[in-house]
Amino acid sequence: MKDNNQLWESCVHFHGHACGGLMIGYKASLYALDYFGLELGPEETSLRQDEELVCIAENDACGCDAIQSILSCTIGKGNFLFHLCGKQAFSFYRRSTGQSVRLVLKPGLSKTTRDKSLEYFGKLTPQEMFDAGETRILLPERAKLFSSKACSSCGEMTGEAWMRIRDGEQVCSDCFSEYDRFHV
Ligand SMILES: [Zn+2]
Ligand SMILES: [Zn+2]
Repeated sequence: MKDNNQLWESCVHFHGHACGGLMIGYKASLYALDYFGLELGPEETSLRQDEELVCIAENDACGCDAIQSILSCTIGKGNFLFHLCGKQAFSFYRRSTGQSVRLVLKPGLSKTTRDKSLEYFGKLTPQEMFDAGETRILLPERAKLFSSKACSSCGEMTGEAWMRIRDGEQVCSDCFSEYDRFHV
């Protein structure tokens, strides 16, 4: 049984508090584990180390932390990505098999009050909470390492992929948008 108190508590520890939003991400993670037939590691607090999932979240709310904690999809590793559009939807991809699923919180469920939502979502099964459908976004390539260059305006080292061209010079995106603001 993957749904256990230890698993939930480690999410709460990671996130900093227990809340309904975290519970949404917790149940989405359980759904994903079940959908792909994946096991937790020996500590029962996160996915086995030799598995790698990618998550694309359509919101940046509390639930994202449960996914980072349980499924080891993290911003730093590049396997947790945002496609922000304010929806309680999460797409999961399993690289090794090419399987993927997009989970969307069912309409009508979230109309409970904030205080009651933790208890409310806690009692629902993942299948009761989410509609599962096909993913809409192609699995992005693995995170690449880019080399850095000095911005010709502020001099700060900037990843190549983030550089912009201004008057034939490479500048960082901050310097580029500052220029934009004064020259429109
Ligand atoms: Zn929260
Ligand atoms: Zn700059």
